[in-house]
Amino acid sequence: MKKVWRCKVCGYLHEGEAPPEFCPVCHAAASQFELVEEVASQHPAAAEAAERGLLQEMRETFVPHAVFAHFPNALIPTALLFLLLALIFSLESFEQSAFYLLLVGLLAVPPTFVSGLFDWQKKFAGEKAPIFVKKILLAAGLLVLLSTAIIWRWLDPQVLADGGWPAGLYFILVVAMLACVTLLGHYGGVLVFGRLRSKIAEK
Ligand SMILES: [Zn+2]
Repeated sequence: MKKVWRCKVCGYLHEGEAPPEFCPVCHAAASQFELVEEVASQHPAAAEAAERGLLQEMRETFVPHAVFAHFPNALIPTALLFLLLALIFSLESFEQSAFYLLLVGLLAVPPTFVSGLFDWQKKFAGEKAPIFVKKILLAAGLLVLLSTAIIWRWLDPQVLADGGWPAGLYFILVVAMLACVTLLGHYGGVLVFGRLRSKIAEK
């Protein structure tokens, strides 16, 4: 019988005599792998799972964090786009739009962060794998960048229009936010699709 190991952190499945030294998906150590034997296609639980409806499936797989995360993930790239348009067309309305988008993005960070911690406890038992540490640090970085840019822009509404190094720095702050949400989304995808893959393999 072939041996199948499952990463307890992200659900990644590995076939072989022994678990890998590190999970290729979430980098958890070999000790985080559990032996699941052969992936049983005729396992009673698998047959039962197939019969359950969509609602039941949703109740089990609904991830509040994945829903909240779309707000900062969408608002920050849009804010950057409006800032670019403001620079290209020298239009104040675009710059104002970018500011309001960042403001709503900032409001979306606390529920995203809290739901992330909640899902981390619920779905991953608060496992202290590097991927979660990175996500928490990136979220903290995003919060600092967003707050700094918003307070700055609120105190000096002409920061972009005045040009020079302050305008450049303000713009870089927003580019750095884009880097944060991109990486946060990437790691989130790694966690979600790692689990999806193992769920599909179970069926
Ligand atoms: Zn893993």
